Amino acid sequence: MSITVEPVPCLQDNYIWLLRGAAGAVAICDPGEAAPAIAAVEKAGAGRLDMILLTHHHGDHIAGVAAVKGRFPGARVVGNRADAHRLPPLDLAVAPGDTVGFGGSAAAVIDSPGHTRGEVSYHFAEGALVLCGDTLFSLGCGRLIEGTAEEMFRSLRALAALPGETLVCCGHEYTESNARFALTVEPDNAALRARAAEAKAQRAAGRPTVPTTMAQELAANPFLRAPDVATLARIRTAKDDFR
Ligand SMILES: [Zn+2]
Repeated sequence: MSITVEPVPCLQDNYIWLLRGAAGAVAICDPGEAAPAIAAVEKAGAGRLDMILLTHHHGDHIAGVAAVKGRFPGARVVGNRADAHRLPPLDLAVAPGDTVGFGGSAAAVIDSPGHTRGEVSYHFAEGALVLCGDTLFSLGCGRLIEGTAEEMFRSLRALAALPGETLVCCGHEYTESNARFALTVEPDNAALRARAAEAKAQRAAGRPTVPTTMAQELAANPFLRAPDVATLARIRTAKDDFR
């Protein structure tokens, strides 16, 4: 059985990701808020939670961990060993290049610095999905809070190398505002214009715009399409100032 994934909205515009694997296995990624995470896990099945995957240390991604772990003590908390000092207590401390077993499948831990120094992504080849936190968004990328444009460029290149059908499971619902900026960078990009219209319709219908696919992002996301570090740095700075 493959891994399936669905977004669970929390806080203002964050997504917790709910994963289901073989034999009833359940995991979540980045519980920034406990109540929606617990409700989603309980709805998913027998109230079983095997794993809590963490992409990075920001409060809107980890604030719910303690309460979720309190409710489901068997859940193993997984995060980057290099950031263990600023993540909740880890049951499994991983490093880029490691694999994490879940639900009869395995996720590759991908180094994703740029937004923070210790951010990682988790790629499930089976299930074709990547949990990419605040590194790659639909039509955008994370702000460079701790890292450099060069680091973000390399992080985005590593994600871009994943198969085109890979579901991009990012940490925020930013697609509509990202689209407004992206269209200033590539006003004539037909894939981007179509994606912007799609996102607008999805939000108007009260639906999430994610997950998207890597192929769609490669066609429409100016940050992922930036050919070099200088271009990425320039559009990232412009986005920071964009209103
Ligand atoms: Zn963040």
